[in-house]
Amino acid sequence: MKVSFTDLGLVNTREMFAKAVKGGYAIPAFNFNNMEQLQAIIQACTETKSPVILQVSKGARNYANQTLLRYMAQGAVEYAKELGWKKPQIVLHLDHGDSYEVCKSCVDFGFSSVMIDGSHLPYEENVALTKKVVKYAHKHDVTVEAELGVLAGVEDEVSSEVSHYTKPEEVIDFVKKTGCDSLAISIGTSHGAYKFTPEQCTRDEETGRLVPPPLAFDILKAIEKKLPGFPIVLHGSSSVPQEYVDIINANGGKLPNAVGIPEEQLRKAAKSAVCKINIDSDSRLAMTAAVRKHFADNPGHFDPRQYLKPAREEMKKMYVHKIINVLGSQNKAR
Ligand SMILES: [Zn+2]
Repeated sequence: MKVSFTDLGLVNTREMFAKAVKGGYAIPAFNFNNMEQLQAIIQACTETKSPVILQVSKGARNYANQTLLRYMAQGAVEYAKELGWKKPQIVLHLDHGDSYEVCKSCVDFGFSSVMIDGSHLPYEENVALTKKVVKYAHKHDVTVEAELGVLAGVEDEVSSEVSHYTKPEEVIDFVKKTGCDSLAISIGTSHGAYKFTPEQCTRDEETGRLVPPPLAFDILKAIEKKLPGFPIVLHGSSSVPQEYVDIINANGGKLPNAVGIPEEQLRKAAKSAVCKINIDSDSRLAMTAAVRKHFADNPGHFDPRQYLKPAREEMKKMYVHKIINVLGSQNKAR
């Protein structure tokens, strides 16, 4: 049975992105695959009145089950209303759809937005696949994110050894031919908690911490110039907060040289045509840091509610911080 996203109380990204590009802020795109994470996201977005994109990756679908995740998103809308958010602006988005069939099934299943990631394909094949997805999705008023340029790093099964920056000279042709609603680009972000090797970084002399290479803002600027006002998306944009890495490592963890994108660079990107910023690893780190610390402090605890409560609180704190201090999306969904 087909379900429309409007029946679930969800919205697509069209109006959200138009406002974000105009207003010089970015919408948070948070991945979720469990209840505590979803509660933290909805609490954070309700309190800050921030629109939000709930993302489901292939890994999340395998882990939590697609049907359950969809009902959780529907529940999230009702939960937000219960918390006092009169008109929740919540998108349910497929992250890194890898085939027409997967995208179609999500459209039929109540997702309000899908990504078709053909970035690993030859250019013309990426165009053809994206165009096919757009045609089906738009029939159902579902918006489509496409990708041009390849990110380094690993996110679920999407992997690439090297990063190939998006070629600004291709973007007009790609958007025109495919009709996609937003475009994920490669300007030096990457997936996971190890975005750069120590060799790619410099070291802060005072703190001894790794300083990653800057994002390619010249490419972003060139793309903005080719596509004025067109919504741009950044994947792999966790900052890998070093305080979480420290807590994890001080409590039995082992995350050597984990490093992400500095928040001031993301802040700068959010003010440009970048209107969707994907954050996943930071919530994993927040959760793990809180759980590890809780177990170290309370070795006798075994009720999951005892250690998932502080984990949820830490994730919420992190989400609120991103919304207010990095993305600037607070009070945009009153
Ligand atoms: Zn991604």
